[in-house]
Amino acid sequence: MLIIKKIAELKTALSLDKSRLQIGLVPTMGALHQGHVSLIKRAVQECDRVVVSIFVNPLQFTPAEDLARYPRQLATDSRLCEELGVDIIFAPNAAEIGITGDTATQGQATTVIPPQAMTSGLCGKYRPGHFTGVATIVTKLLNIVQPDRAYFGQKDAQQLAIIRRLVRDLNLPVEIVGCPIIREASGLALSSRNQYLSTREKSQATILYHSLKQVALAFFQGETQTDSLIKIAKDQLATLREVRVQYIELVDPVTLDPLARVEKRGLLAIAAYLGNTRLIDNIILRQPIIAIDGPAGAGKSTVTRRVAEQLELLYLDTGAMYRAVTWLVMDSGIAVDEEKAIASLVKDITIDLISTDSPEIPIGVYINGREVTQEIRTPEVTANVSAIAAQAAVRKELVKAQQLCGEKGGVIAEGRDIGTNVYPDADLKIFLTASVEERARRRSIDLQNQGQTNIDLQQLQQDIQTRDAKDSNRAIAPLRKADDAIEIITDGLTIEEVIAKIVALYQNLYK
Ligand code: AMP
Repeated sequence: MLIIKKIAELKTALSLDKSRLQIGLVPTMGALHQGHVSLIKRAVQECDRVVVSIFVNPLQFTPAEDLARYPRQLATDSRLCEELGVDIIFAPNAAEIGITGDTATQGQATTVIPPQAMTSGLCGKYRPGHFTGVATIVTKLLNIVQPDRAYFGQKDAQQLAIIRRLVRDLNLPVEIVGCPIIREASGLALSSRNQYLSTREKSQATILYHSLKQVALAFFQGETQTDSLIKIAKDQLATLREVRVQYIELVDPVTLDPLARVEKRGLLAIAAYLGNTRLIDNIILRQPIIAIDGPAGAGKSTVTRRVAEQLELLYLDTGAMYRAVTWLVMDSGIAVDEEKAIASLVKDITIDLISTDSPEIPIGVYINGREVTQEIRTPEVTANVSAIAAQAAVRKELVKAQQLCGEKGGVIAEGRDIGTNVYPDADLKIFLTASVEERARRRSIDLQNQGQTNIDLQQLQQDIQTRDAKDSNRAIAPLRKADDAIEIITDGLTIEEVIAKIVALYQNLYK
């Protein structure tokens, strides 16, 4: 790992890589904790080269704030980054990055000013100039590093929304990846500023998350009016005298416009002081998403379909979507390794999943308007689907389609990377698995039921192992249990028992 302080050196280090490798940037102010670690891990998984910038940006501190005492610990941060597989730490000083003074004097240089409507509420109201400082430094970092992707935490929800907007408005060629909030077991959102809290304050600070969760529970139970939802949080926070609330707001998570009621999605955000420490936290209100991942043959599709029925959720059969693309590729006479031809084939495809009345085939699958429900279940499609699903262009198109389906929530989906990649902010993540022996046994019963004889159990086991290895080792979005997923090993469990477990977990969400 390199620690670089000069822009010219950074450019040299990256120049060879830029044309052929995917570069990820994780901008931070240092004092790294598990929240930062989650961003870095995701970047390391998704990119060939990862740059973590560490820069305590004077422009985003108002004069009364904690710029001087903000924790600086480059040596510890470097060790952590090295362990995580970071390639470069970029730690410039203010002069190097072209920041000559504080917010006032910087007024003479070009600054990036986000739309007023996005900065007038939430933290922007209490931290004048903060988001101009953030937007300016982030633009600089994006221009210096020129990453393919840049990673930001949902913890700073207003910042994330503003940066997404900035990238869109300025046509910056980078994908912004938002990552879920990482919390301590107590529920306290991790923050470099938690270092300022005493042990007592730290335990008191958990009230922020508990009040957010109470609101989420009320929303889950049908309350959608902003006034009522905010009152729940306010009342809860008022139970602790030491907490001084700065704001509680409910806004649209993309535009940050205030909402009178939550129709699709709402961002409920809180800022509060405990002693001298200012804390922020937030939660997205939308109907829940359940993500079910796991290896082939663990019973995911049956379980998911039945849970969807019971809980009246939309069942997003992502496997069928990948199968449909595989069928289309084969039907078009394109070889499965012709990635460029496949990339143009999948651009702008339409895939529709439509509920049917048939209990055997509850979902009809259509690609570009043609029904392929039966065709996608042939052994030829099964044999090729992993190779197709591993292709970047295919995944990109399908993940986009899946995320669109999930915007409003109320969705259950199963696959290999639903909880890690498609819906990293899913409310309930299940990793459904079973031993290779058990999965081979189930597969042989399926085949027998389909009328096949001469089934070679050992061969089935080997096939399953090969498929597991392929799914777990592919470069893009490999099969991996999300850190916050609940593992259910289904050896010895009936389908009904598995379903009951998941339904109970769902019903206990937010409790
Ligand atoms: P900072 O060092 O505070 O500027 O944060 C750097 C990045 O880490 C920002 O994108 C933050 O949103 C993100 N981050 C900070 N805390 C957390 C957390 N608890 N969970 C997820 N991301 C976080």
